[in-house]
Formats: sequence, structure tokens, C-alpha cells
Amino acid sequence: MRYSLTSLLKQTLTGHKGWTPQWRDAAPKAEYDIIIVGGGGHGLATAYYLAKEYGLRNIAVLEKSWIGSGNIGRNTTIIRSNYLLSENISLYELSLKLWEGLEQDFNYNAMVSQRGVLNLYHSDGQRDAYARRGNMMRLNGADSELLDREGVRKLYPFLNFDAARFPIQGGLLQKRGGTVRHDAVAWGYARGASDRGVDVIQNCEVTGIDIVDGRAVGVQTSRGAIRAKKIGLAVAGSSSRVAAMAGMRLPIESHVLQAFVSEGLKPVIPGVITFGAGHFYISQSDKGGLVFGGDIDGYNSYAQRGNLPVVEDVCEGGMALMPAIGRARMLRNWGGLVDMSMDGSPIIDRTHVKGLYLNAGWCYGGFKATPGSGFVFAHLLAKDEPHPAANRLLLDRFLSGHIVDEKGQGAQPNLH
Ligand SMILES: Cc1cc2nc3c(=O)[nH]c(=O)nc-3n(C[C@H](O)[C@H](O)[C@H](O)COP(=O)(O)OP(=O)(O)OC[C@H]3O[C@@H](n4cnc5c(N)ncnc54)[C@H](O)[C@@H]3O)c2cc1C
Repeated sequence: MRYSLTSLLKQTLTGHKGWTPQWRDAAPKAEYDIIIVGGGGHGLATAYYLAKEYGLRNIAVLEKSWIGSGNIGRNTTIIRSNYLLSENISLYELSLKLWEGLEQDFNYNAMVSQRGVLNLYHSDGQRDAYARRGNMMRLNGADSELLDREGVRKLYPFLNFDAARFPIQGGLLQKRGGTVRHDAVAWGYARGASDRGVDVIQNCEVTGIDIVDGRAVGVQTSRGAIRAKKIGLAVAGSSSRVAAMAGMRLPIESHVLQAFVSEGLKPVIPGVITFGAGHFYISQSDKGGLVFGGDIDGYNSYAQRGNLPVVEDVCEGGMALMPAIGRARMLRNWGGLVDMSMDGSPIIDRTHVKGLYLNAGWCYGGFKATPGSGFVFAHLLAKDEPHPAANRLLLDRFLSGHIVDEKGQGAQPNLH
């Protein structure tokens, strides 16, 4: 069923009785050409582009829980391509371009809102670093604008300019960045993939990977064994656990990242703001809630909930940046499992097991990559070679030392 004004009018006139489920509730078959493990944003987008771009239909997405239960439904919805290294900008910019046409492409309202992402700077050194980053973005085809203090004040007069411990000097603005309704992204891709013949299978946990003579030939699941010619792993925070089923030890640690939302308020924050002197970022959802977050909890965990020290740290960051936030009541907070790679950049590659492919290492920032990641992972699975936009995001960079070290801080799992 195609969504349009006409279909909406028709349903309105007939009491909304004709809406059909958005995707088929498929049961597993005995064999597929391609199995994608993980029904998060990346897994679903991969299946969608495999079907749409390469005409492949005999595909299953296996999700241990329900669609949208992982990070795709837990993130703070920010999209941007404001990276420093060409290797990252090329992927995230591809993704941003896909976001720009996504709703028309998959015929679903994902509320893509290019409301601008502003990274604040608070020192001369930070300004120079942002100027460099902005130049790199422009050289790689992304948009960026360096604002001075008055430029920031015009956009966000309520920030703490005058009595701040770290006075705001300016900011790096990416106007094409913004927010997207995260659940709708999962649903839109699930629907688009299912319409093209992909089986989206929920409540189907992969418990083992069958390997014969160095080739992956299928998976064991909570709903029985399923054979496959190719298997793509897209399980985000569970990457190390699932890859271990194929005897792999990944350069990834799983950490908890929390997010917070306030009660609904009238519109106060038009775009996305990140604090440059602490780990805090904020935007406002279309329902009016202030959506904000900060740093990871800082210990390895597979629990999708966090602890109080980070709640305090994030709220302190918020108060330092915009003291008015102290008057808003926090409605709820939650945690997700992020797959922190050792150089802060993702991994999209084949593995040492033939027919087994890996999509992982998204750290804090894989939501914005969802369309791009799906697009390039589909290319890798279909053609057996990396897409040009991701041909440096390979696993063996950790072996050779050619890491994609976005922050220039060396190997540690606290980068994004
Ligand atoms: C609090 C928070 C805020 C964030 N904010 C942002 C942001 O603003 N912008 C941004 O770009 N990124 C953000 N991120 C990161 C982003 O959400 C993730 O990097 C991205 O969603 C990960 O990809 P995914 O959607 O495929 O993951 P997921 O949705 O987690 O998908 C992985 C799926 O694999 C399934 N799975 C795991 N093991 C198995 C198994 N054995 N068998 C079958 N299925 C399995 C899981 O159930 C899960 O549904 C945030 C993350 C968190 C937690």
C-alpha cells in the first residue's frame, strides 16, 4: 500500500479500516541467499538496498527482539556529516544525501528535519580545530560555516554567554545536519524491504554461526537452523558477542550510552547544539521534549540501562551551557548499547570466514549513518567488494596500524 494524500483521504472516508500492517510478519524459511543478523536501522537498510539496488529478494533479516528495540529506537536522532577525516566524511556525507531523499524514496514520513547542527567552541585552539574540520568538510563536499560569538548569539540568544565558566566564542554550523524520527526510519526500511520480498523476522535470535571448511553456510537460531549463502552481521552493541560465534575477537568494546528527555515545552531550541567544553548536546523533538545526552557510562556492559554519575554529569553540562534548562523537568532517561571501535570509526568489511560480512563499530554515531551504512553494506554483500565511500573502513586497519583515528587520540574506546 502506497502512502499518499489520496490514500489518507480514502481511509478517512472509510473509517480507517483499510490500513494494512506495515510489513509482513514472516516466518523463517529453511534457506536464504542472504541473511542479515540484526533488525536495527543498519540491518534493515542493508536489506532494503539489497532488494532495491541489486534486485535481490531471497533475503531474511533476523531480529532477536522486535524491530526498533535496539539503538535505532534509543538514539537522540541527530544526523550530520561534520567529521574531520575524508574516510569518515565520505560515508557520512553519502548518508546525509540519502537522508535528503529518503522519505520520497521509501514512501514513509521519517520527519527528516535539516534544522542545523552547531558545535560550540570556547577557546582559540578549539576554534582553529573547528576551522580545520570545516575546511575538510568543504573539501569533501559537505557544508560548513564557522560562526563567531555574535553569529551564535543571533541563533541561540538564551545560551550562557556572559557568566559562563567557559565563555562561548563561536561555533561550527552544519545547516544540512538536523534530526530524523528514529523509529520511523526502522519502520520505513522494514516496510520497504518487506514490500520487495525480504522476510523481516522478529523474535529470532541467532545463537550460532555454522561454518564448514572456512565458509559460513548458515545460522542456528531460537527458531531453528537456517542455511544461507551469505551472512551479514549488523548487531551494533552485540557485535563482539555475535562475532565470537564465528571465532572472531573484534577491536570493539560495548558500552552504555544514555539519553534524556524533558517534559514537552513550547518551541525553544530550533536546531541541535553541542557544548564544546563538556560532553552535552541538545535538541528539541517535534513533541516539545528537550532531547539531550552526553558521554558513555565508561564501563563495559551489555545492559541497556545506565547509572547515576552520568545523569549528574550530563545535567551539569546542560546547566553550564543554558542555565534555563534547570527549570525543565526531566521526563525519562534510557540507555543503549554502543559498539565502540578502537579508533572511533566504523568497520564494514568481509571477514576471515568466507561469506561472512561485518558491519560494526558505530560508537555514539551510527544513527546518522543508517542509510549510508545500509547502502555500502549492501554493495559489499552483493558485489563482494567495498563501496568506494567505505573502502578505508576495513577490519585489517587494526592489524596494519592504518587506523582511521578521527580524533587523533590513539586506540581507546572513548571516541566518536
Ligand atoms: C542513547 C543513544 C543516543 C544516540 N544518539 C545518536 C545520535 O544522536 N546520532 C547518531 O548518529 N547516533 C546516535 N546513537 C548511535 C546509534 O543509535 C547507533 O550507532 C545505531 O543505531 C546502531 O545501528 P543499528 O540501528 O543497526 O543498531 P540496533 O538498533 O541496536 O540494531 C542491532 C540489532 O541487533 C539485534 N541483535 C543483537 N544480537 C542479536 C542476535 N544474536 N540475533 C539477532 N539479532 C540480534 C538487536 O536486538 C538489535 O535490534 C545513539 C545511541 C544511543 C544508545
